[in-house]
Amino acid sequence: MQLVGVRDVSKVFANGVKALADVSLDVQAGEFLSVLGPSGCGKSTLLRLIAGLAEPTAGTIDWPDERGREDLGFVFQEPTLMPWATALANVALPLKLRGIAKGEREARAAEALDNVGVKGFERVWPRELSGGMKMRVSLARALVFRPRLLLMYGPSMGLAPILVEQSFELIQQINQQGVTIFMVE
Ligand code: ADP
Repeated sequence: MQLVGVRDVSKVFANGVKALADVSLDVQAGEFLSVLGPSGCGKSTLLRLIAGLAEPTAGTIDWPDERGREDLGFVFQEPTLMPWATALANVALPLKLRGIAKGEREARAAEALDNVGVKGFERVWPRELSGGMKMRVSLARALVFRPRLLLMYGPSMGLAPILVEQSFELIQQINQQGVTIFMVE
């Protein structure tokens, strides 16, 4: 089943930079798709267009099932945790914003943290976490809603090679749990 189709998409920024030209691809449910390319080739732009954070100049982003558009998680290039909140509160934030009661959101956030291998760090502050752990907490926050599609930057940015390997294994596990992965590297 096709989740999203990118059809002849181009993106030209106001300053005249053509970031994407006639890009087409399909993301199938259950897939683990990676887009590779050098810095500046348009990967972030493609990710942002699929996420609906920007509009294409030409072409379309098609969602055969309209619900797919809302049912996505996004992991930014840098871990974007709130420094004044614990790991658990950071992961629970999207649930809090949707009015889910404290007990339930904390239970779901703890489960999401456990799922990315950071059990026992619920009450820890972001500043006490290593870069790799922060990325995992960011990943848990994107997954706390159990999205169908996870849009993300690959783990190789700024992580030690051993962590990159572990992170790939983790993302593969998440994919095996049924989350479609669209990653740029
Ligand atoms: P990548 O993620 O592959 O490094 P980007 O999608 O960030 O590439 O950028 C593709 C091109 O578009 C680059 O030349 C970049 O400088 C340019 N670009 C990205 N965002 C903007 C913007 N908001 N305004 C103007 N140019 C941009």
